[in-house]
Amino acid sequence: MKLVLHDRDLEQIIEHARQGYPYEVCGLIGGRDGVAESVVPVPNASRSPRVRFEMERQAMVDAIIGFQRAGREVVGIYHSHPEGKPELSETDVAQATWPDAVNLVVGLDEQQQIDLKAWAIRRGEVEPADLEIISEE
Ligand SMILES: [Zn+2]
Repeated sequence: MKLVLHDRDLEQIIEHARQGYPYEVCGLIGGRDGVAESVVPVPNASRSPRVRFEMERQAMVDAIIGFQRAGREVVGIYHSHPEGKPELSETDVAQATWPDAVNLVVGLDEQQQIDLKAWAIRRGEVEPADLEIISEE
């Protein structure tokens, strides 16, 4: 599984993760054939937002409708791990709902340095996914 992401979209995701610190942030990545075209932040509605994320339902639905109107699908989901590594938690795996989307995890340390990993989750099985960053030029 592979996700192709433009560097400006990656910057947007990283900036979102930094702004949300020390809480987890999340969002959806829309595109076609594994190529990202649009990144939409979604509020984290979890009651334990330091260690969990749960996409706010209406914002998530709105984002998906927006993708569909533009002929896009959900090609990726991202969330951050403040003070954590970009490995998936058991909860992340248990709650994964889009088997065809790449799960991008942004780990942040105390200096807000970024560690990024992409994962595929299918039927509870986790595998690393490929992440290709491309620039506009
Ligand atoms: Zn997580």
